[in-house]
Amino acid sequence: MSTVPWTGTDRRLLGLRLGAGAAVVVVAWFVASGKPEPAGQIPFAALSVLGGLLGMYGVFAWVARGRRLVGERARFLLGVAPATDVDVASAETLVAGREHAWFHRADCLLAASRQWPSADRTVHQRAGRRPCPACKP
Ligand SMILES: [Zn+2]
Repeated sequence: MSTVPWTGTDRRLLGLRLGAGAAVVVVAWFVASGKPEPAGQIPFAALSVLGGLLGMYGVFAWVARGRRLVGERARFLLGVAPATDVDVASAETLVAGREHAWFHRADCLLAASRQWPSADRTVHQRAGRRPCPACKP
C-alpha cells in the first residue's frame, strides 16, 4: 500500500491545472506588457487572476481528494464505530439541586456524583423546575 493517498492520475490532474493556470498568467502578463495604456492592461490583469484561481482550484481539488482518500483508508482500517448508548440516561429516579432550574434522571451526566435528593416529578414541577433537555426525564 502506498504511503501517499494520491494516484498518478491525481498528480497529473494537479500538474495540468497548475500548468494551465500558470500558462494563463504568463500569457496574460506577456500580452498586457505590450499594452501602453493601463486601460488596455486591465482585462489581461483580470485574466491573470483567473489563471491564479485555476491553479488554486487545482491545489484545493488535490487536497480535497487526498482528504477523501485518507478518510476511506481510515474507515477501511478502523471500521465504523459501533453505536453505543453508554451515555444515555435511563434511570427512573428524578433528582435536582435545591436551587436549580432543572431536574434530571439520577444517571444523567449533569447530575451524577452530585448527591442531589430525589423526588417525584410533581414535587420538582411544583418547585418550578423543568425537565433537563439532555436526559429528558
Ligand atoms: Zn439531565
